[in-house]
Amino acid sequence: MKVQCVICDQVEEIHPDSLLGKKLRNHPLVTYMCLPCKERITENTEKRRADGLLPDTSLQVQEEEW
Ligand SMILES: [Zn+2]
Repeated sequence: MKVQCVICDQVEEIHPDSLLGKKLRNHPLVTYMCLPCKERITENTEKRRADGLLPDTSLQVQEEEW
């Protein structure tokens, strides 16, 4: 089956019986991201968290428990 990356519009062929293929077939709203885009986004997210620009949600949860 063909899937299109939501970030760079690159079309890739994935196996329909793979975990991702089943997920995309069963949940049409699940979006596909190609590996380079996924890695880039993960990297950016990690970097922003390291810089303190992203709120640390785990800390907030702990505060609410008090
Ligand atoms: Zn992409």
